[in-house]
Amino acid sequence: MSAEPCLDVVVIGGGPAGSAIARLLASWGHRIAVLNRPRAPTRGQIESIPPSGRKLMQAIGVLSAIERHGFPANRGNVVWWGLADGRDETFDADGASHGLQVLRPELDALLLREAETAGAEILPATVRSVSCEGSDPAQVYYETAGTSQSVRARFVVDASGRTGVVARQGLRRYDPAHRMQAYLGLWHHDGAWPENYGDRTLVETYEDGWGWSLGSSPSARQVAVVVDAATTRTSRGPIARAYAKELDKTRHVGASTTGATLERVWACDASMYTATIMAGPTFLLVGDAACCIDPLSSFGVKKALASGWLGAVALHTALVDSSRAGIAFDHFTRREHEVYAAERARTLEFAEQAAAYHPSPFWTRRALARDTANAVPDVNALLRGPDVKAAHERLRTADEVRWRWNHAARLVPYSVVRGHEIIVEEAIRTPLTPLRYVAGVDLLALGRASQDGRTVADLFDTYCRHVAPVPVTDFLRALSVLVAEGVLVPAPFAAGSSTPA
Ligand SMILES: Cc1cc2nc3c(=O)[nH]c(=O)nc-3n(C[C@H](O)[C@H](O)[C@H](O)COP(=O)(O)OP(=O)(O)OC[C@H]3O[C@@H](n4cnc5c(N)ncnc54)[C@H](O)[C@@H]3O)c2cc1C
Repeated sequence: MSAEPCLDVVVIGGGPAGSAIARLLASWGHRIAVLNRPRAPTRGQIESIPPSGRKLMQAIGVLSAIERHGFPANRGNVVWWGLADGRDETFDADGASHGLQVLRPELDALLLREAETAGAEILPATVRSVSCEGSDPAQVYYETAGTSQSVRARFVVDASGRTGVVARQGLRRYDPAHRMQAYLGLWHHDGAWPENYGDRTLVETYEDGWGWSLGSSPSARQVAVVVDAATTRTSRGPIARAYAKELDKTRHVGASTTGATLERVWACDASMYTATIMAGPTFLLVGDAACCIDPLSSFGVKKALASGWLGAVALHTALVDSSRAGIAFDHFTRREHEVYAAERARTLEFAEQAAAYHPSPFWTRRALARDTANAVPDVNALLRGPDVKAAHERLRTADEVRWRWNHAARLVPYSVVRGHEIIVEEAIRTPLTPLRYVAGVDLLALGRASQDGRTVADLFDTYCRHVAPVPVTDFLRALSVLVAEGVLVPAPFAAGSSTPA
């Protein structure tokens, strides 16, 4: 790559988020370069990816390559979360659907190759700084093979994970109750592991943190703990000693190392954070550079792929029609904030469960730490609300009522993804937030299917045939919202007739 060409997009970092965005944008015809600082091989983590990650792999076009690679299956978790007895959380009881246990350097190399095959240029390089203020092309300064170089691009994507090359220019906000530190150990076993947990993740809480044990092959297992970063500092002693001390506090996770040899141990940051701004005129933050959730969720890779996918759609929109750049970046930002808020709420629930069993400062502090600063409208609160419940009951008991579109219902402009672009359509107005989809059901399409008045059974049939097949429970939830918000009303009946006027 020469020093001064102006590319469409330069991506900093070749983890799941960076590779996903690069692959998609290159395959949609844009000139893309990825500047990636290769990971230290000694830091190669084993991570699990839930079965639902497949849909994103498919959307990014990497599913076949991942399946061909043959990563071991992950069939769920055995969990002692604030519990004395373990709970088996198998993903799918009949075993048909499974997640993956991946060695990250292998997954990352595979995803980068897929980005390259699609036409992205991949360069091993460390980005030192970025100038991306104003609307001029961004300038990225990097080092490669001992030389300093720079490149210009219409947009720069920060996909550098926790490093946050752009995000750390004053945009990152840490969650004070979740400044965490992880200690990870890689264990080797010559024979079989004592218990047959090969395709399960073991997860356990203890007074001062929580731990997990996860395999990547019949002989290799990673056993890790997450502790408070402020009170358990590595500077107080060698990492291996701190790790052993924490592992000793666990009952099941530590026991999974019996008969195995510790090959190496390392520490890394596991804090939660988000960003005040996810995008600017010439930059976008994706994956962990944008926001980082609790590693407990095992959703980090899936979230990074989703962020890369939506980031690609937003940038593609901005590249083909600069007048829609603001709308596209706002849409991307809204989604990132929603994902972070939902995951932050899940972390709080987990902390509450653990604190009920371990009333220690570690868990109590986390159980009390509500995140009001990053809260977003909770659509689930609307779905659980009395109006929607009452509407649901009404729908259930009024088979013969015909429902029709209320022409007085207020619609508001709303951005949606269509194909590879973000465009403006409409959504229904609710007191909480504009809503276009509920449980994957398109509220407007559903409303329009009822223009001439239809019974619930009729509407379900019409929606499934003309819009998309959906489970009846999701359909009823969406319909209840439309009725509760007054968007659908009973069709008036002509006097003496059983059909609408
Ligand atoms: C202890 C722990 C356990 C976890 N376990 C799981 C799990 O089981 N399942 C799961 O789904 N998620 C897990 N996660 C989360 C997951 O690792 C991340 O969410 C995911 O890697 C984010 O992907 P990313 O592409 O955004 O960033 P990263 O994967 O961090 O990729 C960033 C890339 O940028 C490169 N880079 C950094 N700085 C520069 C620079 N200056 N110049 C050029 N390149 C640079 C890095 O080398 C790296 O290749 C865990 C996280 C932690 C901390």
